[in-house]
Amino acid sequence: MTTTTTSAPSSRHALLSGWGRYPLFESDVYRPDKIAELQAVVTANTSSLIARGAGRAYGDAALNDQNRVVELTRLNRMLSFDAATGLLRCEAGVTIAELIDVFLPRGFFPPVTPGTRFVTLGGSIAADVHGKNHHRDSSLASHVTSFELMIASGEVLRCSREENSELFWATVGGMGLTGVILELELRMRRVESAYLDGELIRAGNIDAAIEAFERTDAQYGYSVAWIDCNSGKSALGRSVLNVGNFATLDQLPHNLAQDPLSTMPKLSPIVPFDFPGFALNSLSVRMFNAVIYATHRERAAHTVFDWESFFYPLDSIRNWNRIYGKRGFVQYQCVWPPAESRAGLVEVLETIAHSRRGSFLAVLKKFGGQDGLLSFPMPGYTLALDFPVTDGLLEFLDSLDAMVLKRGGRVYLAKDARMAPETFRAMYPNLAKWQAAKAVADPNNRFSSSLSRRLGMNPA
Ligand SMILES: Cc1cc2nc3c(=O)[nH]c(=O)nc-3n(C[C@H](O)[C@H](O)[C@H](O)COP(=O)(O)OP(=O)(O)OC[C@H]3O[C@@H](n4cnc5c(N)ncnc54)[C@H](O)[C@@H]3O)c2cc1C
Repeated sequence: MTTTTTSAPSSRHALLSGWGRYPLFESDVYRPDKIAELQAVVTANTSSLIARGAGRAYGDAALNDQNRVVELTRLNRMLSFDAATGLLRCEAGVTIAELIDVFLPRGFFPPVTPGTRFVTLGGSIAADVHGKNHHRDSSLASHVTSFELMIASGEVLRCSREENSELFWATVGGMGLTGVILELELRMRRVESAYLDGELIRAGNIDAAIEAFERTDAQYGYSVAWIDCNSGKSALGRSVLNVGNFATLDQLPHNLAQDPLSTMPKLSPIVPFDFPGFALNSLSVRMFNAVIYATHRERAAHTVFDWESFFYPLDSIRNWNRIYGKRGFVQYQCVWPPAESRAGLVEVLETIAHSRRGSFLAVLKKFGGQDGLLSFPMPGYTLALDFPVTDGLLEFLDSLDAMVLKRGGRVYLAKDARMAPETFRAMYPNLAKWQAAKAVADPNNRFSSSLSRRLGMNPA
């Protein structure tokens, strides 16, 4: 690709946060709509810079306190699509929601999707996101064949498994710190319908939940469990698993088979104001969890789910992040290796149950392998928990870090807002390799974020 130098677009000074609304930092924010404008922002010899997509990372990954942030949302054109191979080329500001709008009616679905569709593909590669199919299909990187990356010099490099491969593996999961992803090539997944054929399975405790994941693993490509963090003793970790596969035409009831690829838009209820912090106290969380568990049967017969309610139950409540009140919340997502998963889950769930800091939303999932050098997934079980910011929370999460670390686990950078640098270094053993690749593409650490400075990620 050839680029010409042009002047940087004007910026606005803004207070930004991630999806957790904690922390909040001020930055100069640029929103270029041409590659040449982006290049002028990248090469300007001023303060450090970080890319931002849709701002759905929970913590400080797309923040750059008192420095510059460049939003990629205007660089969002679809460039080409080959229906025979499913290969799509598009700019990095395209969102998963846009992919679904355009391609699901044609029988294609994103190969991996996180629990919200309102994320950009650039942000999704930078976090190497995982979905409900990680145990079978791995993370997004496995389905990206190449991308173009603007490095600190303003030069654009094509990165793939064959070309600039060190940079490819440092950029997937590299949290925007190697450069700005401009466009990418992705293999879309062919589907016969917009529905999933699956089951809801109730598991009475953590052992039953793990047993259900293992039992349904080979049968279902997608699986996830909602987990009740408030129950203890013999009901510790009781869960409702949701498993499924894209339905084939012959699995659909007649009325749905008439229009199998209908995307059926739904109206989104909106949370229009900040709930007072006390709305989510331990009693209300306890009641909410008890009701959800009680309303699911032991093992329901096969059910057909529409794509939206199966993949994105939270997207139907726009701005749900406001229910945690003005102080915001922290999402804590960790993973343990297979041999430590059960013991790690029991330890963390018992600690949470005793703490009475009940997590409102808690999700359990089985992972497959790891892709990028700093990618979060590793084989084992992962648990994601939401905690409203309250006094003592950060110390409490430090104690969870120690439990996860001693069992060889790690915490997800795209969710993190508070981990200590020494914990990060111990959890990510490929850091030195990643730093070597970053040093080649960005020798002066032009790409830096609040996350990278807090964790000491950038090479010295
Ligand atoms: C409700 C909800 C559910 C979620 N579920 C999951 C899940 O199931 N699995 C999962 O893995 N994640 C999940 N996430 C996290 C989310 O998928 C990631 O944080 C993703 O990175 C967000 O993409 P974004 O476009 O909003 O990026 P941002 O939040 O804006 O940025 C995230 C990172 O990407 C970098 N970045 C953004 N654009 C570019 C670019 N063009 N070039 C280089 N770097 C770039 C940023 O610098 C930053 O480090 C969830 C988030 C929410 C809010």
